[in-house]
Amino acid sequence: MEQVTIFWFRRDLRLEDNAGLYRALKTGRPVLPLFIFDTTILDKLPSRADARVEFIHQEIERLHGELEALGSTLLVRHGNPLEVWKELLREWDVQAVYTNHDYEPSAKDRDAAVAELLSENDTEFRTYKDQVIFEKLEVTKADGDPYVVFTPYSRAWKAKLEEKLVEVEEDPDAKNGQSDKLSFYLKPYPNERYFDHFHQTGSTEIPSLADMGFEPAGIPFPDREVSRELIRNYDRTRDYPAIEGTSRLGLHFRFGTISIREKARRAAKLNGTFLNELIWRDFYAMIMDNFPHVVERSFREKYDQIEWRNNEQEFRAWCAGETGYPIVDAGMRELNTTGYMHNRVRMVTASFLTKHLLIDWRWGEAYFAEKLLDYELASNNGGWQWAAGSGTDAAPYFRIFNPESQLKKFDKELRYVKEWVPEYGTKDYPAPIVDHKMARERCLATYKAALDRG
Ligand SMILES: Cc1cc2nc3c(=O)[nH]c(=O)nc-3n(C[C@H](O)[C@H](O)[C@H](O)COP(=O)(O)OP(=O)(O)OC[C@H]3O[C@@H](n4cnc5c(N)ncnc54)[C@H](O)[C@@H]3O)c2cc1C
Repeated sequence: MEQVTIFWFRRDLRLEDNAGLYRALKTGRPVLPLFIFDTTILDKLPSRADARVEFIHQEIERLHGELEALGSTLLVRHGNPLEVWKELLREWDVQAVYTNHDYEPSAKDRDAAVAELLSENDTEFRTYKDQVIFEKLEVTKADGDPYVVFTPYSRAWKAKLEEKLVEVEEDPDAKNGQSDKLSFYLKPYPNERYFDHFHQTGSTEIPSLADMGFEPAGIPFPDREVSRELIRNYDRTRDYPAIEGTSRLGLHFRFGTISIREKARRAAKLNGTFLNELIWRDFYAMIMDNFPHVVERSFREKYDQIEWRNNEQEFRAWCAGETGYPIVDAGMRELNTTGYMHNRVRMVTASFLTKHLLIDWRWGEAYFAEKLLDYELASNNGGWQWAAGSGTDAAPYFRIFNPESQLKKFDKELRYVKEWVPEYGTKDYPAPIVDHKMARERCLATYKAALDRG
C-alpha cells in the first residue's frame, strides 16, 4: 500500500493561502487532496435544487482541474464521512491527515469521531485555524473569559492584530506602493513553493450533481472579486439596499473560496467599517465555539421564557413577502429569488418576524438557513438572536424597528421596493397584516412578562 498524507478540504475550497494545506505540503511528504460530499448534511436539505450544493460542486470541479494541472488530483467521495474514512484507511497507508478547524457543533462532533478512528489506526490528525483571523480563546477579557459584547471584543481584536507587526516589501494596497507594516496574523501562507509535494496520481472521477440526487438551482453566484473602490466607499454605501454597496463575498467566505486574511489585509488598509464587519464574523464564530448552546437556545436564558404566538399563516405571509410592509416584503422576495438579502433588510425582516409577529426566532433562522447562499450557522444565529434581543450584545428589547421609518431612511426613493414589489402602491398590494402600534405594544408586554418571570 502506498503511503500518503491526506489533506481534507471542507470550508476552505482553495489552494492559495490555505493554512492546513500549507502545513501538509511543508512536511515534504506526498499530499493527496480529498473532499467528501457529506450525506449527513446533504440528506437533510429540503430542496434538491439547492444552490449551495451546486456552488460547492462547481468549486470542487475547479479545484480538481487546478490540482490536475499541478500533476495531482482531488479524491472526491460521497457518503458519511466516518464510513468514507474507514474505506480510505483500507485503501491507502495514511500517515497523517491535515485539515482546517470547523467550529459548528456538528462538525466538531464529526471531527472528534474521525480523530478517534485515525488514532486507533495510529494516523496523525492535525488541524489548523484558517477561516477566521482569531479563534476560540485567542481574544479574551483580561481574566481569560470570552467576550460577550462586540465593541470591547473588537477593540481587543484590533489590538491583537497590532501586537505583531512585520515589515512587508510590496503591498499593492499601500499608498504609492511604499513598503509598509503588516500584521503577522494577516500574512498569507506561501504554498506555491511546496506544490510539487502533491501526490502524483492518475485522474479521479467527481460524482455529478445528478449522481448525488441534486440539480442546478439556476441562481447566479456573486463574483469572488471585489473592487478596491467598493471597499473604500463601503461605510457610505453599505446601508442602502437599492445600491450595490456591499461586497457580496459572504458565499465565498462561507466556503473558503477566498482567503479571510487577504480580505482583512485589504480592509485594514482601505476601510475600518469593512474591517469591523469581518470582526463581527470572527465574533459570532467565537461565540458559537465557546457557547454552543446558542445553536438551540437563547444566549440569555431568560429569553427562552417568551411566549411566541407562532401563527403559521402569518409566518407564511412573511416567507412569501406578503406582509403589507414594503421593505419587509421586498427583502423576503429578494431572498426567495436570489438567495441574498441586504444586511439592513435582514435586520428589519428579522425584527419584524420576532417583534411584530412574535414568531420564534428559530423559525426565521431556519428559513434563512434554507434560502441564503451565504448561510453560515454562527452569523445567522448571531443575527437572529440580535434581532430577537436574546443574544450577546443585543439591543434592548424595547428598541423595536419601525419598518416605515426604516424605509424612509434607507430606501427613500423606493427604488429597492419597486424592484421587488412592483405592485406596491396599487390595489393589488395587501394591507399590513398587523398594525405597527398595536404590535409594538403587544411585543413590549410579552417580552416584559417573560423577563419578569425569568
Ligand atoms: C438576521 C440576520 C441573519 C444573517 N445571516 C447571515 C448568514 O447566514 N451568513 C452570513 O455570512 N452573514 C449573515 N448575516 C450578516 C450579514 O447580513 C451578511 O454577512 C451580509 O449581509 C452579507 O452580505 P455581503 O457579503 O455583501 O456583506 P458585506 O457587508 O460586504 O460584509 C463583508 C463580510 O463581512 C461579514 N459580515 C458582515 N456583516 C456581518 C454580521 N453582522 N455578522 C457576521 N458577519 C458579517 C460577512 O462575511 C460579509 O460577507 C445575517 C444578519 C442578520 C441580521
